[in-house]
Amino acid sequence: MTEKADIKSMTLSELEQFTVDILGEKKFRAKQIYEWLHVRLADSFDEMTNLSKPLREKLKKQCVLTRLEMVEKYVSSIDGTAKYLFRLSDDRIIESVLMHYKHGNSVCISSQVGCRMGCRFCASTLGGLERQMLPSEMLDEIYQIQKDSGERVSNVVVMGTGEPLDNYDALVRMIELLTGEQGLNISQRNVTVSTCGLVPKIYELADLKLQITLAISLHAVNDEKRRELMPIANTYSIAELLNACRYYYSQNNRRITFEYSLVKGVNDSREDARALAQLLSGLNCHINLIPVNPIEERDYRQSEADAVLKFKNMLEKYGRNVTIRREMGRDIQAACGQLRKKYMEQSSDEEG
Ligand code: SAH
Repeated sequence: MTEKADIKSMTLSELEQFTVDILGEKKFRAKQIYEWLHVRLADSFDEMTNLSKPLREKLKKQCVLTRLEMVEKYVSSIDGTAKYLFRLSDDRIIESVLMHYKHGNSVCISSQVGCRMGCRFCASTLGGLERQMLPSEMLDEIYQIQKDSGERVSNVVVMGTGEPLDNYDALVRMIELLTGEQGLNISQRNVTVSTCGLVPKIYELADLKLQITLAISLHAVNDEKRRELMPIANTYSIAELLNACRYYYSQNNRRITFEYSLVKGVNDSREDARALAQLLSGLNCHINLIPVNPIEERDYRQSEADAVLKFKNMLEKYGRNVTIRREMGRDIQAACGQLRKKYMEQSSDEEG
């Protein structure tokens, strides 16, 4: 049996070809189907009422329509942040977050089921990589949240579970579909991709000249310290990473964001702040400080509020552009893979 086509991952021109060659229908039908999938956010072929019944039957036979099933939703009573747990068609669980900002609604999506990057402080990587996610699955995180909340999603950050550049082709395709005029048409400028720094992929992405924001998880000012926190630093040095960032900027003219999670006594000293300011001098960038969210499995502690502020002030003294990430949804474990992990532990307790 041939595998069914993942119709929600197709670009419009691929869908046109599919419609003519495989379904034996007129080309204009593809536009109608595409609109059902990516604008009206249909969850089934039966909803596509301007298509004939036989065509809908053909679609059911030939295609899978990716649809994430919401299994849990937690809403923060502090700031309205909503965390979603979704079930994929093979029963795996992923998480996504909806955050409300003054400038609009932002959805943080997962790009892989699990992660193999092994960053020491991160809960998403503890179980390793389970599998890659499809473009349609990433998109559906956004689609289901937009439908559930009834509010337009204006920003997408690929900062959930997974390393997006380790699922590069699917990521790029997802961005194309998300920001295309025929779909939700979210501006590329409102899409951020966060990476731990897969250098060759940063070059590849740069050459696509997308207008998305690149966020780099730096977290340390020298290779030795970075290696302690992030295994990827054994493969690429900070110097190589920053060269890739300079190249990205030269191709896209987009200011780069550097994420720096502050861990008490590890990377939060005045010397670290000074070294960070120096490291990034001459680069048009923004620094986002994230007080680390402690996870049970590791004994990393959050820097004191005072140390965070001092760190920020020091960077500002050197003229760097810096913000402290506001913590959203603290009461619902909205941070980095914690909720998914807890959910899976609970369900395996129940089973066992
Ligand atoms: N793989 C991508 C996206 C991961 S999560 C990346 O590495 O960038 C988004 C950000 O949260 C990254 O900067 C990541 O390093 C950071 N992060 C992960 N776990 C964290 C924790 N427990 N506390 C603070 N920041 C964390």
